[in-house]
This record gives sequence, C-alpha cells and structure tokens, in this order.
Amino acid sequence: MRPRQPPQRITSYLRGLIDAGVEPIKAQYLVDAATTTWDGRVFDDLDPLGEDCKYSPVKGLVHKYNNRVLWKVSYRCAAHCRFCTRIRQIGSVDGDLSDNDIQTALAYIKDHPHVDDVILSGGDPLYTPRVTTRIIEQLSSVDTVKVIRIGTRLPIHSPSSFAAPQLRGLLELVSRIVTTKAIYVQIQFNHPAELTEDTRCVIRQLRSTGAVLLSQTVFLRDVNDNAGILTALFRELFYLSVVPYYIYRCDYVKGLERFVCDFEKERTIMTDITKTLSGIAVPTFIIDVPGRGKIPVPLRFWTNVAAGLCGDFDGKALALMETLQPDARGQQWSPD
Ligand SMILES: *Cc1c(COP(=O)(O)O)cnc(C)c1O
Ligand code: SF4
Repeated sequence: MRPRQPPQRITSYLRGLIDAGVEPIKAQYLVDAATTTWDGRVFDDLDPLGEDCKYSPVKGLVHKYNNRVLWKVSYRCAAHCRFCTRIRQIGSVDGDLSDNDIQTALAYIKDHPHVDDVILSGGDPLYTPRVTTRIIEQLSSVDTVKVIRIGTRLPIHSPSSFAAPQLRGLLELVSRIVTTKAIYVQIQFNHPAELTEDTRCVIRQLRSTGAVLLSQTVFLRDVNDNAGILTALFRELFYLSVVPYYIYRCDYVKGLERFVCDFEKERTIMTDITKTLSGIAVPTFIIDVPGRGKIPVPLRFWTNVAAGLCGDFDGKALALMETLQPDARGQQWSPD
C-alpha cells in the first residue's frame, strides 16, 4: 500500500518565500516524489508511536505518559509539512471534534486527576481558534489541570492570521488565564530562514500574552542537519526569548524516509552546539522510539559512564570516579 500523501498545501505567505528562492522552505512543503527511501530503507508503519489505538482512550486524546495528555484539536493545519509525524491524518476532517467529543475528553481528564498537563496539538490548534478557545475555556476551570500547552506552527505558516479577530480573542483568553495556570506555547522551528520579520512580530505578540515560549525542532536531512544552521537557529530563538526545548530525531513513519538524518551526525552536531551556546539555548535531543516513547540521546561527553570516564568541553579526557563517589573507590560505579 502506498503511504497516504496529504495534498500539497502552502499559504500565500510561504508561497512568497518559495518564489523568493528560500530553499529550506521549499524542501519542507513541496511534494517531492523523487527520493522515498532512507539509505535504501523503507518504513512500513504509518503510526509507529501507537497514537491511534494503543494510547488513545477517547477520540482526540493520546495518553501515553502518566501525568500528561496530548489533545488533538483537529487534523487541520494552514500548510502541510511533508515530514509531519501525523502525515497519515493531516488535512483530513476525521479529526474534527463534536461538542460531544470535547465533553468526553474533558470527562476523561477530570476522571484522571493526576493528569496536570494538557498539550493541545493536532493539527495546529491555532489554525482552528474557535474550537481551541472552547477547549481552553473549559480546561481553565478544571482545578487538577495546572499546565496548558499549545503546539503550533502558525507563526511560520501564516503570520498575518494573528491579526484576525478569532485569534486575537484566543490570545486575550491566554493572557487572562496565564495568571492562574501555566501556559506554554511550543512553536516548531526547523531553520533560521523561518525567522522572518513577520514571524518575529508574531513571537513578540505571543510573548506579550505572558505565556512561556518554547521551540521544538526536527532533524531534517539536507534542511538542518548542520551545526552552523542549528547554532544560528537556537541562538536567534534564545535572543527572542524562545527557549529551545526539544530537537527530535525524525520519526520512522512510512513516507518520511527521505527526511531521516544520519544518527551519529546528529549526535556530533548536538555535542558541538552544547559546547558553543548558552545552556538555555541548547534543546534536549530526543528520539521517540516506536513502542517505547521519548528517550533523551546521550551526547559525546561520557566515553564510559560505568567507569566515570568523560571528556570536557575542550575534548580533554578525565576520570571522575572518585569525585562522584568517594566511598566507592575501587568499586564499579553505575548510575541508577
Ligand atoms: C511528546 C509527548 C508528550 C509531551 O512530552 P514532554 O516530554 O512532557 O514534552 C505528551 N504526550 C505524547 C503522546 C507525546 O508524544
Ligand atoms: S503544522 Fe504540525 S501537525 Fe501540521 S503538518 Fe506541520 S508538523 Fe504536522
């Protein structure tokens, strides 16, 4: 079976950047049937992270990690990223939630009071401000929910949308709620070319709501698998008060093969960046392992954890055993 390919969809704003020759934008949005393998490998799973069956208790919710749920507000986005981990769903109306679906999901969250963190995702929650506003209004009165996160790419896809009354209303709601609940906006940025003056204006507008701004990035072959590009991206985000949160290895989703980068190259890049940038500007490198979940990837600082051997930022080797555990001299040390 061929992987489902959502139709190409780009905003007039992205079209402008593509027409101006911005290659990294082109590579992320234009359908490219030319290369469909990862070094000869083809993936066979459209949902390797098990979101649709294994971890979905009710429509719209993915409950995989104990204290937090991901709530897919719709499957719609202003533009279709070709590397989307949910490429199986993007652009489909099947993810639209009825009032009943929203009530069912809310009831699930209330029934699980240890869920204190709700991540609105999709699809792009800011692309459907009406339903997202309804959901946030309802969540704001659930005492057990302490944190609301909004994952979005709309500031990159369509900065002008933020002038629309619906979205302004949603941001006003955020500024009101932010005094009672923590609100984080997680914006996906993959390349410094995405930080145009229009997008920077939106970032300032989002900051003024009082929400904390985080970024997420995906390693994309021939787009950003390069230390210089990512250093520039994270530094600019840091300057804009956006804290780089995660950088993901591209998921092993059928149809995304051409975006998967070399793993050792990714580790080297993140190690180099850790040595270069302020700590706040360095995101955690994560691999979301099929059937297992997110696992942070160790960088090249420790050569032998058990023996306490590592290298410093200059690459000089040192043995830390006695510093770490003076009582364990001569014994095998291992982290628990
Ligand atoms: C990534 C993810 C989360 C959030 O994880 P954090 O590490 O807390 O950012 C929650 N649920 C699902 C299903 C996820 O994939
Ligand atoms: S905006 Fe997010 S959900 Fe939508 S296509 Fe892009 S990566 Fe996927």
